[in-house]
Amino acid sequence: MSYFLLDEFKNSTPYQPGEMPNDRDYLKLNANESSYPPSPKVLDAMTVAEVNSVTHYCDPHYVSLRKAIGSIYDLSYKNIFVGNGADEVLSFAMMSFFRRGMKVCFPDITYDFYRTYAVTYGLDYKQFPLKDDYSIDVNDYINTDRDVILANPNNPTGQALSVSDIEKIVSANPYRMVLIDEAYVDYGNESCVPLISRYSNLIIVQTFSKSRNMPGARIGFAIASSDIIKDMERVKFSFNPFNLSTLAIAGGTAAALDEEYMSLCVGKIKYTREWFEDELEKLGFNVYRTETNFVFFQPKGISAADLTAQLKANGILVRYYDEKRLDTFVRITIGTEAEMERVLVTIRKIIGVSNAA
Ligand SMILES: *Cc1c(COP(=O)(O)O)cnc(C)c1O
Repeated sequence: MSYFLLDEFKNSTPYQPGEMPNDRDYLKLNANESSYPPSPKVLDAMTVAEVNSVTHYCDPHYVSLRKAIGSIYDLSYKNIFVGNGADEVLSFAMMSFFRRGMKVCFPDITYDFYRTYAVTYGLDYKQFPLKDDYSIDVNDYINTDRDVILANPNNPTGQALSVSDIEKIVSANPYRMVLIDEAYVDYGNESCVPLISRYSNLIIVQTFSKSRNMPGARIGFAIASSDIIKDMERVKFSFNPFNLSTLAIAGGTAAALDEEYMSLCVGKIKYTREWFEDELEKLGFNVYRTETNFVFFQPKGISAADLTAQLKANGILVRYYDEKRLDTFVRITIGTEAEMERVLVTIRKIIGVSNAA
């Protein structure tokens, strides 16, 4: 640490992404990435002309990409803000609307970046414990004067709240900002996007990193009232106007317009996930069923830490959280059917169950 680093960062715990060891080839199922390629239209959009255009800045209002995203929900581009991944979009939202010392809340078990950002922006944050069944207690968020940040469905638990529950939170106080992170919403949960026409204290955040198979492209977006979006644009132009690359804009626009391909990939993931969950249950594992691209479960006959370590020894990376209330769970991203077959065969081998059946 240098002499110059600010105290608040000296004492902070930065976000820890899923590990990326390079000592050998791994099947990487620890960061909810994708085993399927992006839409072929993304490749078509990345033309030589497009690559050559990096000699100039692109339009920093990113209207083509915002229009393409707006068309998914029948919204104007004025309701869409785009950023360098959902993470940056969340960061812009907090930078725009959360003053230092402001009170915010989110669950004790959720996407860990909320805590990281709360520290980064000097917020007074409170983490409400999930209920015993790992679901969110809506009343915690209705009966608080704190601004709210929720992943819906939640990560890593996969549990979701209904749109009517979210509406109760949003409508309880129009002067309180509510950020809903819908990173996994395309896998089957109902989106809260229709609420934005009625509530100006609601921001929905989504990403191209999950259902559009493009985490490396870094594209995320916010959907909100046009006033909120105008505010976030204003802050963007006070911080980093050109926050997406020319190539990400071209590829992202093509991906947004190819909804058919997205549905195809989502359908495959759902089918594989349901089959994989059934198989884990046959092993006596306690599976928390989700509508996402991952499974969340407690193994039986072996600890979660042990299972994770032994899968790694077999070249398979999964996510284990060495934390209170989470350390009996494993989260595994759903890959292709063949990949999940390999994971299952390996798990059976590890716990000593015959693969013959
Ligand atoms: C994966 C994930 C993100 C990150 O999205 P990026 O667009 O890759 O930054 C945000 N929120 C949740 C809940 C996620 O699981």
